[in-house]
Amino acid sequence: MTARMNPKWNGQFSCFDLVAKTAESPRSIVRIGKIEVGGNDFVVMAGPCAVESETQLMQTAEAVAQSGACILRGGAYKPRSSPYAFQGLGVEGLKLLRKAREATGLKIITEVMSEEDVDLIAEYADIMQVGTRSMENYPLLEMLGRCGRPVLLKRGMTATLEEFLCSAQVIAMAGNSDVILCERGIRTFETATRNTLDIAAVPVLKTVSRLPVIVDPSHAAGVRSLVPVLSRAAVAVGADGLLVEVHPTPEKALSDGNQSLNLSEFRNMMEDLGPYLELQQRSSEFRPQLLAAGGAD
Ligand code: PEP
Ligand code: MN
Repeated sequence: MTARMNPKWNGQFSCFDLVAKTAESPRSIVRIGKIEVGGNDFVVMAGPCAVESETQLMQTAEAVAQSGACILRGGAYKPRSSPYAFQGLGVEGLKLLRKAREATGLKIITEVMSEEDVDLIAEYADIMQVGTRSMENYPLLEMLGRCGRPVLLKRGMTATLEEFLCSAQVIAMAGNSDVILCERGIRTFETATRNTLDIAAVPVLKTVSRLPVIVDPSHAAGVRSLVPVLSRAAVAVGADGLLVEVHPTPEKALSDGNQSLNLSEFRNMMEDLGPYLELQQRSSEFRPQLLAAGGAD
């Protein structure tokens, strides 16, 4: 089968047919119950990097729900750079996530690293998260194409946008077009931040692709003080939502404490985002139209 591609972006990369923005499919909305990612809502997913304990998760879940998040994040299977670092609670973490969903009504997003875990995690998760390190794990992506759950695909830390969209196409070709793209920062020569948030990726992706695009300011920044301002930037460029790390006591977190907001910092950030979100809704310029840039081959 030859895939149809939309015209090239600025003479550079193309986007494959199942994820491309076309006249017939200008945007896809990923539905998780009543939540619409890629529609008119700005969807905030928040919670700890890793599920650590019942108290930690419940406290966080209740607080982020009150502040306006509608999806709880929390890793049960953690891809850690060091083999000596906390690797996650595994299935116990999944059970705690389920408990938090029952208590708060929040939907759940959690990472899947291995093909072996797909069926198990799909029983607990409302959205399957593919981490930056797994963006090019094609057998995993293919299996997620058949998992029956929406997939949040993080951009590989050294992936071009074309490679990112190719991975999304792999999931869609395997049968699942409910894919949400997540820009989480890429590796550059800059060391002042953990990664470099490629903010331009958001309008470029939203121009060539029909898929929703959200931003993870936490892994981009690596430091909590930058998270609110990068979140505002995400709103300003037309992102469909955020994925934010929040912890009741970040200084005691078992992973990514430096970049996690505490509960009141998250509440303040959400309040401060309000006027920016209103502005975004009033301005159609923030929602790039079909193939605004580039043009035919
Ligand atoms: C995470 O979301 O905690 C995570 C590990 O993210 P990334 O894959 O972007 O590093
Ligand atoms: Mn993390």
